[in-house]
Amino acid sequence: MLRRELPPADVRRGWLIRLNAQGVAPSSDGQGVLERDVAWPPQALRLGFWHDEPVALSIEAGGEAWPPARDWLAQISPAESEVLATALQVSHWERDHRFCGRCGHPTQRLAHEFAMSCEQCGLRAYPRISPCIITLVTFGRDMLLARSPRFPPQRYSTLAGFIEPGEAVESAVRREVMEEVGVEVGRVSFFKSQSWPFPHSLMMGFFAEATSRRIRIDGHEIADAAWFTPENPPELPPSYSISRQLIDTHRRAVATR
Ligand SMILES: [Zn+2]
Repeated sequence: MLRRELPPADVRRGWLIRLNAQGVAPSSDGQGVLERDVAWPPQALRLGFWHDEPVALSIEAGGEAWPPARDWLAQISPAESEVLATALQVSHWERDHRFCGRCGHPTQRLAHEFAMSCEQCGLRAYPRISPCIITLVTFGRDMLLARSPRFPPQRYSTLAGFIEPGEAVESAVRREVMEEVGVEVGRVSFFKSQSWPFPHSLMMGFFAEATSRRIRIDGHEIADAAWFTPENPPELPPSYSISRQLIDTHRRAVATR
């Protein structure tokens, strides 16, 4: 697990994860993205501690064809995925907060936390995290799954959307389901959450029980939606996604009913 405490500023060696605009460098054994005991380049950004040794991120300019981050998330462990998700979000934050959003002055990174600070006006910019709900709507044993026009052909998934300013999480579940498929839901229960660093979402997973089966799709965000039995699902999202974990958890729970 990543220990979320920044190594001292004079530490210049330890684990390193290397990103460029295309993807993430494989470690020398090809098995993951974390390389052990290497000298950090001058621009390295400290992330924390991994197995009690300091870990940093290096953003590199080269155009080497490293595998995209999504491919890595499909094959590395959940613990290593957490480091990768952190590295991706810290890299976006560092890139996007070089100047103060309030007064335009150049910012500087603080040594002891993830904060870009403006000396001119005092504003601090922290890594942005965008909370989203993701929900599997059920009716008895059946699951409501939908496809977005952006999905690979045949792929269906759970419903998801951003939480709006001032909105409670449970209200966002009810609103998104109503907006996207026109279905009213009764009981809503929390499942678990997952960081989704594209670029900075925090997915909060819920089960939602529909009070009726009639579907009315919006035709924009959703290209099709339908009820599926646990025994005959369509093509589903990859197993590391919280969407798939919601679906698999429900299918296991109703398998003996
Ligand atoms: Zn400022």
